[in-house]
Order: sequence, then structure tokens, then C-alpha cells
Amino acid sequence: MSESIKTSVEFGCSKCGRAIEGAPGETLTCRHCDAETPVPEAGNDLEKCLACGCEHIYRHRDFNQKMGLLLIAVGAGLCFVWPYWPLGVAALIDLVLYVTLPDVGICHRCKAHHRGFDNIGRLPAFDLERHEHYRFEKAKEEGRIASPDAPDLPEPPQKLRPPQ
Ligand SMILES: [Zn+2]
Ligand SMILES: [Zn+2]
Repeated sequence: MSESIKTSVEFGCSKCGRAIEGAPGETLTCRHCDAETPVPEAGNDLEKCLACGCEHIYRHRDFNQKMGLLLIAVGAGLCFVWPYWPLGVAALIDLVLYVTLPDVGICHRCKAHHRGFDNIGRLPAFDLERHEHYRFEKAKEEGRIASPDAPDLPEPPQKLRPPQ
């Protein structure tokens, strides 16, 4: 049954930028600033980013780095009690989690994470060129790079005399 698959999206709140998560078709309320963000409806296949509408989404392992670090820390702690082997066990658990965890679809443009969609396994892998392209676009939008077709130099204070 397709009902058992729960699709969701996680992205930065449009107002405060902190992570919010919900299902397609829901209106999400940010826990931090109460801003409401509607999420568009979506089918079982992900066609475009549910946060920004971008069509470039790549596949990535939904791996929680914090959990991995915690496992390593626990393994390192156990070393004091029983030297040598726990680190290996932690690394092994890490590896098992890494292999068994599902894929997540990440938007190249806004980094929204999409989960539970049928076609995530068929999405393209991370594309560095595309990533750089969006990074550049974003920098331009934020005014960190002056765009060549929109000069932002102020008018010179003194007007030149018109030619005779
Ligand atoms: Zn917010
Ligand atoms: Zn996006």
C-alpha cells in the first residue's frame, strides 16, 4: 500500500532559517518564530523541491552525523574498560547504519531534505558543478557578488558638463 509510505520535507523556515519539517499539503508552523509556511501537495514521486520549486535534487544517504559521533564516543569510552575492541564495534555499527539507512533527496538550491518518495533512489548523485552554480546564484542574490549586468555604483556626485 502506498499509504504506508510517509513523505516529508525538511527545510529552513523562511523567516528565521531554522529547520522545520512536515508532509506535503500541510501548513507548517515554525516552533521558533511562529511563521507559517505552506508545503505544496506532492505525489509519491518527487518532481521538484517542495520548498523552492527547484528541479535539481540529488540523492544522499540520510545519515545522522551526530549519531555516528555519539557511537564513536561511546566506543572510545568503553576502551577504558575493555581496551581495543569497542572502537571497532562502534565503527561496525556505524557502517551498518550507513548501509541500511534510506536515501534522502536534497535540493541543490535550498538544501531542503525530502524523505519517503518512491523515486529518491533514482535521483542523480551530487553534482559539484550544479552545486557551484547555485552557490554562485545565492551569493549574487545576497549581494555578496556584484552581478556584471547590474552595476551598483552610485551616480557621480558632480554632473559632467554636456558636450558642446
Ligand atoms: Zn522560524
Ligand atoms: Zn529547494
